[in-house]
Amino acid sequence: MPIVVLKLPDVKRKTEGRPKKCPYCGGETFQRWGRVKKSVKDLRVRSIRVYRYRCCHCQRTFRHYPEGNTQADQTGRLHVFAVMCWRLGLSHRGVSTILSGLKVSFSHMTSWRDVQTEAERTRKQNQGKPVRIVGLDAAYVLGWGAKRSVLVAVDLGNGQPMALGYVNESDPHAVRRWLEPLVQEHGISVIVTDDLSSYRLAARKLHLEHQVCQFHVRRWVGRALRELQETIPKEWRWVLEEIKQLLEALPPFGDRRLYALWEQLAHHRSKRMQKLRELLLRLSQHWQSYVTHQFEPDVPWTNNATERAIGKMKMRARTVRGYKSWPGMHSGLLLAGTCTP
Ligand SMILES: [Zn+2]
Repeated sequence: MPIVVLKLPDVKRKTEGRPKKCPYCGGETFQRWGRVKKSVKDLRVRSIRVYRYRCCHCQRTFRHYPEGNTQADQTGRLHVFAVMCWRLGLSHRGVSTILSGLKVSFSHMTSWRDVQTEAERTRKQNQGKPVRIVGLDAAYVLGWGAKRSVLVAVDLGNGQPMALGYVNESDPHAVRRWLEPLVQEHGISVIVTDDLSSYRLAARKLHLEHQVCQFHVRRWVGRALRELQETIPKEWRWVLEEIKQLLEALPPFGDRRLYALWEQLAHHRSKRMQKLRELLLRLSQHWQSYVTHQFEPDVPWTNNATERAIGKMKMRARTVRGYKSWPGMHSGLLLAGTCTP
């Protein structure tokens, strides 16, 4: 396996140049106005030298920090390191313990705050970003708030989760209400989902292309076919075989064949044959949402990437359970679902 090299931001002990602009007025000429030694929390550096300057234009003084530092106690490098430890699976207390081993005193509350800041930064970065294909799926996790399910939207361009909401995935109005602002903000044009009618309706109302995950379709259709195998008259079993083959091959106009079969069985009024007819009709009506990936570039034919992102969030659910507020939990989970380098 290749070794992954972890690249952390640089931290300098002293500044290499003079400030370019006054942070208050943008002035460009300064006088040096003393210097202070400041202790910092970092993996290697213990203290830095900070110069103060006075702006010749507005007369105000300000501090000029060496690269990788701000007015905060911790350096940018420590921030990145702590957030990465958390994303790789440590709890906030775990991050604090690891850092104590490196002789850095770092409380679990600081780790919590760092993760929050990072999540907020990621959220801002993603604001208004164009996203063409989005995977949607519900996650049911105890402790994510009152046994409600959480609807997760994943950018299938990069596999990163982009939004979470307390939305009942079976309620078409709720799904649509939640999805509409996301569609507007990011210009989404395709969604990939399970075979639920709520997603189908939302896609239609919002004029989105829709791809239904074929793993889900094969699972429920496989179940239906096995049941029918036991009940329908022997002479009609070839229909079941044909349905199975159509689903495996996914020809673009499979719906026409399914519809023809439905018509062919029109005079069979027995309950069992009605079941088979219902299946044929449903598949023929939904067919176009099974084959969207054949016409739309880069659309996956399953929703696996969404499930992977949700899996990562579930792994981290324990460490975000302590979050009291929904916004806190929301941002923690979003960050937990993002790919680690
Ligand atoms: Zn100034």
